[in-house]
Amino acid sequence: MPPSSPNPQDRGEAHIRDLGRGRAGDVVRDRGDACPGALRLHRADDGALARLRLPTGVLTPHQVEVLAEAADRLGDGHLSLTSRGNVELRGLGEGCGLGLAEALRGAGLLPASERHERVRNMVVSPLAGADVTDWAYRLDELLCAEDWTTELSGRFLFAVDDGRGDVAALGADVTLLAEAAGTALVHVAGAAYRVSAADAPRAALAAAEAFLAAARAAGTGAWRVRELPAGQDVDVTAHLRRAAVAAEPVAGAELPAGAPPAPGATGDGSVCVLARLGRVTSAQFRALLPAREVRVTPWRGFVLPRLAGPAAARERLRALDAAGFITRADSPWAGVSACTGRPGCAKSLSDVRADARPREGELPVHWSGCARRCGHPQGAWTDRVATGEGTYQVTVVTVQGSTK
Ligand code: SF4
Repeated sequence: MPPSSPNPQDRGEAHIRDLGRGRAGDVVRDRGDACPGALRLHRADDGALARLRLPTGVLTPHQVEVLAEAADRLGDGHLSLTSRGNVELRGLGEGCGLGLAEALRGAGLLPASERHERVRNMVVSPLAGADVTDWAYRLDELLCAEDWTTELSGRFLFAVDDGRGDVAALGADVTLLAEAAGTALVHVAGAAYRVSAADAPRAALAAAEAFLAAARAAGTGAWRVRELPAGQDVDVTAHLRRAAVAAEPVAGAELPAGAPPAPGATGDGSVCVLARLGRVTSAQFRALLPAREVRVTPWRGFVLPRLAGPAAARERLRALDAAGFITRADSPWAGVSACTGRPGCAKSLSDVRADARPREGELPVHWSGCARRCGHPQGAWTDRVATGEGTYQVTVVTVQGSTK
């Protein structure tokens, strides 16, 4: 079977044909992935596209300014958010790659080794405290320090979950889950192992190494754990032992499926907002400041953590609402998502983003320009796929991978 995407537009994001497959073993890859990166730009119909991995999801105020400036100077003045919490710049002009790389490097947004740029795929609970966020920083350091990690595909995904189950529900290949006792569970290939908090990042890396060994043994070129042939052993225990990580297997441990943070103020004085259809102007992006830091979420939004109390949070929400962000959970736009569509994607049969809108009784709803359904949500949703200019086929996806 050839690689699943004929179009690198949304490579690196899950899509509907992959859902529900499990470890069916019917995938044979005959080449590496072609996911775009910040240094490997993809030529789209509206210019070049750069996808920037944000392994911890955290941006400093300076990095927010640098990205907004790059969008204005080099791109189309917008920033797009992906379902993995990545940031994309689109409409980049010919020959702007070097200038973009220089700006990103200067802002500390690229790894020391550029070969690792596309393997830093990680989603992190955006309301996580310092301990769990530090796991993500440490895992990124470890990932970028090893040569072998460059063999991971641009689709291989780590999740670092603070225990609430929000990013654990996103179907990552390796999930680190914080436990109340201060330990962590590392989940991979349907098994779970309890490790100490101090060992958690190294355990996640060892789990990825075990996957790569299994992928080599299978010889099917799997990019993700679920693409391994059925029955292919992933010997996590051996790799944990080799990494000197003390681990206890935990039978029957299920990954939790928690809800993402709702738009609005959270209990700890943080503020969560969503970007309408996952795209913001550079001016909106700058409107996230002032903030100590900005966290990009895999639900195409932002968290401003720990503002100076409830009054400050309310004030920021008012300002962000005025700037065009979705700031309330009951906003109908909170349930609307769309692929890139025209003019950015040649495959699109319609200008999806112009067509997309909330519709009574159809939330959540995802609008797609073709059957690839790039960027669709998880779980159940109303599925609108373009059949022509402004016309859509509507189905209801009720279970991952099946429709009625
Ligand atoms: S039209 Fe939309 S769903 Fe189809 S390939 Fe393009 S971006 Fe993806």
